[in-house]
Amino acid sequence: MTKYQAVRGTHDILPADAAAFQSLEARSRQLFKQFGFHEIRTPTFESLELFTRSLGETTDIVEKEMYAFEDRGGRKLALRPEGTAGVVRAFIEHHLAQTSPFCKLFYIGSMFRAERPQAGRYREFWQIGAEYFGNAAPEADAEMLVMVQTLFRALGLADVQLKVNSLGDEKCRPVYRKALKDYLEAKKSGLCEDCQRRIAKNPLRVLDCKIDGPKLTDIPTVDHYWCEECRAHFTAVTSLFEKATGHAFVFTPRLVRGLDYYTRTVFEVTTHVLGAQDALAAGGRYDKLVKELGGPDTPALGFALGSERTIQAMQAAEKTKKVESRQSLLVFVAAQGDAPAAAAFQLLQELRVDPALQERSIFFEGGFFQKKLGAQLSLADRLNAGYCVIMGQDELEKDEITLRSLKDSTQERLPRAALRAHLLKLSPRA
Ligand code: AMP
Repeated sequence: MTKYQAVRGTHDILPADAAAFQSLEARSRQLFKQFGFHEIRTPTFESLELFTRSLGETTDIVEKEMYAFEDRGGRKLALRPEGTAGVVRAFIEHHLAQTSPFCKLFYIGSMFRAERPQAGRYREFWQIGAEYFGNAAPEADAEMLVMVQTLFRALGLADVQLKVNSLGDEKCRPVYRKALKDYLEAKKSGLCEDCQRRIAKNPLRVLDCKIDGPKLTDIPTVDHYWCEECRAHFTAVTSLFEKATGHAFVFTPRLVRGLDYYTRTVFEVTTHVLGAQDALAAGGRYDKLVKELGGPDTPALGFALGSERTIQAMQAAEKTKKVESRQSLLVFVAAQGDAPAAAAFQLLQELRVDPALQERSIFFEGGFFQKKLGAQLSLADRLNAGYCVIMGQDELEKDEITLRSLKDSTQERLPRAALRAHLLKLSPRA
């Protein structure tokens, strides 16, 4: 028999890992709400041209990494390699610019890139991202950066680095590109094959090259070429961010982004704890993209984080577990004997849907009443339950239950009617 396996570069998210995804997604949703962002869900595939137009013909994604295909009707399509293009397409298609002077959207979804798989790099991976349309002011850039920083702090990753740069605009970027090209032409023979090709098509990417980037210590950086407006914009973003957070971000003049559509502010969030794949999130301003894709001239900016890497970083920082056990409590319901089992089953279902218990993140499991009581208790232990509610014949007759703490193996009898109030006072298993 053929043994089927997940396709290379893809991975299953099993229930144990899904909890971490849910917690990351719940925190992100909460934060987006606080910052006024609303959810959008766009299709997993779009027309191929949408991505080639928006990402740029010479980017790695378009040149090498796109899952492009023709459907049965001969339409050229591609699985989305990132979220922005689809969101911008939807923004234009549904005339969202007319609904409100600005528009803030967020998305959660999986993305597809035919990259070489390795630790932290997949061919299908999850991203959480946000896009902000209709605000050209530095306040919008600063707000996005504050939101990203707040999110990583809320995830227990306060020590990530937020690296920020400005790529200039249509006025000053060409001047920089020309200076960069001239510099690189003079060094051409010493560059790797990829970079030799990049000089003509996309010289900024040389800064990104793992081989040549670090060698070119005197490579011109964009900050020396910013026009007055871009310099003023960047200075304002810097000072707004510092005033709002009390922290400085890391100005990184060599930071460029893989995608062509960025103008002015670009940023990246990195961590020390993950080795080679150290980028957790990235984003920036893309003031020309909406118009480029056929929409009204609308300034915009956005960011996306990689869920797998962010979760790995959280786990490496040993935060996820602690946060989760601090937040929720599992109570196991056990019983011995047929009549007690029927009562225990009813109790379990009542407790499960009790709004006040749900509110306190107290969860219930049980229903293994055919097993011996000892086996039920060890199952509770394996599930990391904090307490066990036990219903035996004696308890049933007296309309009581036994509540056993699995942490210190103590137990007490309670009137059945007092259980709910008692549970609400319990603290989770430490
Ligand atoms: P990008 O859309 O390339 O700016 O990437 C944004 C974030 O998505 C990165 O910082 C990573 O955390 C994540 N990411 C990008 N590509 C991959 C991949 N192939 N596998 C896993 N995560 C990725």
